[in-house]
Amino acid sequence: MSIVINPSICMSCGKCVSQCPGNLLEVSRNKAVRILNPSFCWGCAACIKVCPQGALKLFLPPVLGGRGARLSVKASKGTLAWQVELPGGKKINIDAPEGEDGY
Ligand code: SF4
Ligand code: SF4
Repeated sequence: MSIVINPSICMSCGKCVSQCPGNLLEVSRNKAVRILNPSFCWGCAACIKVCPQGALKLFLPPVLGGRGARLSVKASKGTLAWQVELPGGKKINIDAPEGEDGY
């Protein structure tokens, strides 16, 4: 699995870097975050949940939505608003309560 980074809206805050359990993310001053080894990403989604800009999305396995399907999430007032973007453009929204530890 891996993530998709939108460099045009990343503000280099580093929040995602500190959340990645595999230390796969790196941010340099005034540069968008980058993933060091995409093949080591196991899709935990920790990075996409903390990004205040929505600059990160997670590629889903083909079996979960077809090749190229992506997952994004926004946290708001104790709710995680997940969105799956299917390859044809259809979007599926799933709201779930945020756990005490943010999961
Ligand atoms: S999905 Fe998880 S493992 Fe992959 S880059 Fe993000 S925080 Fe790291
Ligand atoms: S959390 Fe979002 S805005 Fe901050 S460095 Fe990571 S991708 Fe960029």
